[in-house]
Amino acid sequence: MLIGVPTEIKNSENRVGLVPAGVSLLKRAGHEVMVQVGAGLGSGISDQEFAEAGAEMVEGAPEIYGRAEMIIKVKEPLPPEYGLIRKGQIIYAYLHLAPDPAQTRALVDSGCIAVAYETIQLPDGSLPLLTPMSEVAGRMATQVGASYLTKSHGGIGTLLGGVPGVERGVVTIIGGGVVGSNAAKIAVGMGARVYLLDLNPQRLAYLEDIFGNGIETVMSNHKNIERLVAASDLVIGSVLIPGAKAPWLVSRRMIKAMRPGSVVVDVAIDQGGCFETSHPTTHQDPVFLVDGVIHYCVANIPGDVARTSTFALTNVTLRYALAIADHGLEKAAAQDPALAKGINVYMGKVTCPGVAQALGCEC
Ligand code: NAD
Repeated sequence: MLIGVPTEIKNSENRVGLVPAGVSLLKRAGHEVMVQVGAGLGSGISDQEFAEAGAEMVEGAPEIYGRAEMIIKVKEPLPPEYGLIRKGQIIYAYLHLAPDPAQTRALVDSGCIAVAYETIQLPDGSLPLLTPMSEVAGRMATQVGASYLTKSHGGIGTLLGGVPGVERGVVTIIGGGVVGSNAAKIAVGMGARVYLLDLNPQRLAYLEDIFGNGIETVMSNHKNIERLVAASDLVIGSVLIPGAKAPWLVSRRMIKAMRPGSVVVDVAIDQGGCFETSHPTTHQDPVFLVDGVIHYCVANIPGDVARTSTFALTNVTLRYALAIADHGLEKAAAQDPALAKGINVYMGKVTCPGVAQALGCEC
């Protein structure tokens, strides 16, 4: 199969859909790979590295879309790309079609086959192509929070690990899923006192098994949140109720009770946020103050560590890309129900029930 990897054109998107090791693997399996010149630069991957791995370097997106049987990219196609997509071409990327009727219409009209990373789902309900970005966001949440606690970033001036004779900083993490457990891992590593809240008792038991005495697991309820937020230097919001807006678990009154110069990181901001005082921010302008408390609410945290994120993402996307290239999409999807769930649009028809429902069309 001839595979094409275009440069991402979305604002501030520095990731790329394939790394040189992926090019080599696909080549060894008998496929051909075209990579757009400069596609890897945002992730610190040079054209030479791609070329040495066996990629054909191509100047413009029109040639990539014009020749490739499958396009591998990171983010959804944008309007300048809509007209380039061809009938029967496979588009393999994060698509998030449900809230995006214009893109869905463009993909349907093109006659392409669109496979969305975010709806590839294993039988246990997990979403393997979303997990690595949650891992990155969770680890970054603590790292960024620790950095904003310093005086030079406007923080209270607390070192999370303390030093002998001085108390450690307190980190409270609300939501102990993939983001929360990864945030905890870094906070424990930094030597902070860590409280991890979740609603799910089995999850709390699992987290206690994993972290032992390194963290305090706490049932998530209003009283516990109120008490721990007031005592914390850093609060990380990482709850998820699948398919729903994040609940507001931390009120403005609770924020007011924190010491000025404390920090909150609302990772769940992409689902509306779990702090009453949050609103989405960008990497260009990541923080704002409410009652003296620093709020970091960037909706695409992994974008700031594009190189790590690219490798983490391609580690999990490559196996499905290889299966599609080896067997063709139809056979690969018949063999793997997880991949079948990724097909959102198939030659003129929306095929993902969630997307069809959101857009009020037939599936
Ligand atoms: P997850 O499903 O692995 O974990 C969510 C956890 O929240 C679960 O353990 C669940 O039991 C818990 N929870 C639900 N309601 C709760 C409540 N009231 N109190 C305490 N815990 C509660 O999800 P995840 O992968 O960890 O993602 C968490 C959030 O982070 C999601 O909104 C996701 O979209 C977001 N996210 C944001 C970024 C970013 O860049 N901002 C990146 C990745 C993920």
